[in-house]
Amino acid sequence: MTVFDDAIPAVADLDPDLLKALRRAATDVADDGVEFYVNSGRRAPEYQNQLLREAVSKYGSEVEAARWIATAATSPHVSGDAVDLGHSDATTWLSEHGAEFGLCPIHKNEPWHYELRPEAIDHGCPRMYADPTQDPRMQQ
Ligand SMILES: [Zn+2]
Repeated sequence: MTVFDDAIPAVADLDPDLLKALRRAATDVADDGVEFYVNSGRRAPEYQNQLLREAVSKYGSEVEAARWIATAATSPHVSGDAVDLGHSDATTWLSEHGAEFGLCPIHKNEPWHYELRPEAIDHGCPRMYADPTQDPRMQQ
């Protein structure tokens, strides 16, 4: 799916300001032949919990899984404030130009995961966390 797929809840239910920024950036980059694909957008809490269970069995422990998948209570995907984007040409372009639109990568181990940081337009993106376990929002 793309950031323009209004019929798909994972896209349509994103935070409106995040969606607006994504569409502005996607429109800007389209001239260069780059398209943003949304691999994961807004997630229902049940789906987030399912992903977490799958991650625990994949990585072998809850501690290791937490480096990749947040709980439904803490995930910015559940609140509609995050997108996982592809392909690599899109994330490469965003890593250079995303701040101009307030779009920032948050965790070093997830270069595809973007959130809206409006202050980045003037000040650049904030320093990235190594992984979600370092992110204060993920502590509960
Ligand atoms: Zn993500």
